[in-house]
Amino acid sequence: GEGLAVSARVAPLGSRLVLLLVEDLTEARRIEAVRRDFVANVSHELKTPVGALSLLSEAVMDASDDPEAVLRFAGRMQIEATRLTSLVQEIIDLSRVQNDDLLDDAEPVAVDDLVAEAVDRCRHQANTKQITMATGTTPDLHIWGNRGQLAAALGNLVENAVNYSPARTRVGIAGRRINAPGGDLIEISVTDQGIGISEKDRDRVFERFYRVDPARSRATGGTGLGLSIVKHVAASHGGEVTVWSAEGQGSTFTLRLPEAGIARDRALPPGTDP
Ligand code: ADP
Repeated sequence: GEGLAVSARVAPLGSRLVLLLVEDLTEARRIEAVRRDFVANVSHELKTPVGALSLLSEAVMDASDDPEAVLRFAGRMQIEATRLTSLVQEIIDLSRVQNDDLLDDAEPVAVDDLVAEAVDRCRHQANTKQITMATGTTPDLHIWGNRGQLAAALGNLVENAVNYSPARTRVGIAGRRINAPGGDLIEISVTDQGIGISEKDRDRVFERFYRVDPARSRATGGTGLGLSIVKHVAASHGGEVTVWSAEGQGSTFTLRLPEAGIARDRALPPGTDP
């Protein structure tokens, strides 16, 4: 997986070739360090909401004769539970991605299904913030890949768009086919009107555990793993993820992935020769 990831990055970034080769040489050591970091970080991140929930439930019991206080504590318990859910989701995504026989499970995956699943996953959070989710995809688009991993990737992009946007804004999800010399690609872009990402952070956000504002990210259950998962999925499918952003105005994350040719094959009436 990582080997593929490195070669997929070399093509568009010739000037960084040397840097990437050095990265590749130290890969084994790096993976071990990342694994250690991951276990340490995630156990730490899990402890916070679990600890808070335990204290808050005690507080509820002590305040049983004060209905107002009970409501206040219950509200805070809900926030902590949301954070815990989002952390667990991220761990599930990560384990989906670490399964190495990815391409044995490849199949044509309908873009509409991926978009619907990603929207569902964020619906609650979007409703709370009165964020409108607008989707527009060309019908009958299919990606050749691993369904669970693709769902994790798009789900993370839409979740970030909602998390890093103020209330009453719009998140757009668009999907289309683009003609490319090596075979058609499917492009899915997620556009928000959120806080944006400064130029100096734009490449770094794809690194594991990198967060522009750790306090803000933690408040929404972020671990800094989401975009590294997206990047890993894109690369292992032979695709890429890119970001465009204007600080204070918003961001667009774009996935480009190989098309599965079934839409056109299926369009042929049975019994006709292609
Ligand atoms: P996190 O769990 O912190 O969301 P990610 O890997 O998904 O981790 O993202 C890394 C960082 O990139 C985030 O902490 C945030 O600072 C920034 N980021 C990601 N998506 C967006 C977005 N749509 N708008 C603004 N900032 C973003």
